[in-house]
Amino acid sequence: MPENTQPNDIQTSAHQKNQSDSSVSWQKFSVPFEYPVYFTESLFEPQNPVLLETVKRFEPDKRHKIIVFVDGGLLDVRPQLPQEIKAYADFHSDSLELVTAAIAMPAGEKIKAELHFIEQMQKALADYHIDRHSYVLAIGGGALLDAVGLAAATSHRGIRHIRIPTTVLSQNDSGVGVKNGVNLFGQKNYIGTFAPPFAVLNDYDYIRSLSQRDKIAGMAEAVKVALIRDSAFYQWLEHNADALAVFQEDAMKYMIKRCAELHMQQIAHGGDPFETGSARPLDYGHWAAHKLETITRYHLRHGEAVAIGLALDTRYSVLCGLLAEGEEDRVCFLLEHLGFKLWHPGLLTKSAEGQFAVLQGLKEFREHLGGALTITLLEKLGSGLEVHKMDDELVLQSIQWLKERGD
Ligand SMILES: [Zn+2]
Repeated sequence: MPENTQPNDIQTSAHQKNQSDSSVSWQKFSVPFEYPVYFTESLFEPQNPVLLETVKRFEPDKRHKIIVFVDGGLLDVRPQLPQEIKAYADFHSDSLELVTAAIAMPAGEKIKAELHFIEQMQKALADYHIDRHSYVLAIGGGALLDAVGLAAATSHRGIRHIRIPTTVLSQNDSGVGVKNGVNLFGQKNYIGTFAPPFAVLNDYDYIRSLSQRDKIAGMAEAVKVALIRDSAFYQWLEHNADALAVFQEDAMKYMIKRCAELHMQQIAHGGDPFETGSARPLDYGHWAAHKLETITRYHLRHGEAVAIGLALDTRYSVLCGLLAEGEEDRVCFLLEHLGFKLWHPGLLTKSAEGQFAVLQGLKEFREHLGGALTITLLEKLGSGLEVHKMDDELVLQSIQWLKERGD
């Protein structure tokens, strides 16, 4: 109707008039990312073409500079690794130039505890003239990969970075992703960037040399991603729990590959690879896990904390009426069967103000992302659901339930 459109038109032109002194030119572009994730064995066996092909992908005829950082803990069990890397580079010296012997870095979370180690690596990149067409190789567990990834991403605004994850957890979860970072101000991954790797090379040999504890810890992420994304994979885990509990190789290989694929699918097709929204859809069970890791000053492995977080949020899903009663027992049974302990007294730690410290984890989880609290819970085994509120009382009841089971 004309009499209705008129005021709107006036409003619009007034609005335009107010803006007449300024103008805007929208900049918009998108950058496609792609990187291969290989599953191989004996990566540095000279006949193995995986690393060579990876490095030659864009410039097949060039001689490529490579610098390597290795997890010091890995060198304890594989002291011959630097020689193997050198022999590989020598064998392919037409294409590879190893600028120096592999550089050992601190093992585990220690490397993420101080910016000093990042600076040390950045300095090495500068000293050896590693440019944006050279390669930084990181060989180690998730913490080492996080730290080297940050050093590579921030030197020359981003140097090609190849990840060679050596633990179950980094091969099936963090290593195939796009994040890096170190801890600062008491917060996990406070300093970091989103920087997709140039390639990820998963070598099963490294899994063989892991401690039993580390083999178990990495399986938590497989249970996690199965619970929220893939009921068939969850059933596979239940059916193969005996084999996984003794680290039977075919079962371990399938578990790692399927878990890595589900993480890759989420990053590529979940619509938010750089986590600009309020959700971290794959972080089921992680709000409590991250807090437990800090409470225990990282004496709990990430995967061990995640297993407890999964049990907690699965019980919570039942208590808040989303998930059928009894399903939490099934999840706990699987986790225990795989070798996890689902109770830790750190869950009852209180802050100076007398609050349960773990509840603080919910606040920190929200703050890390910004926006509304977004937590994934379960509506079925294999299907996650996002909620924006968690009831403190039900969280405490879930903790109590875990304690009684543990006792
Ligand atoms: Zn995790």
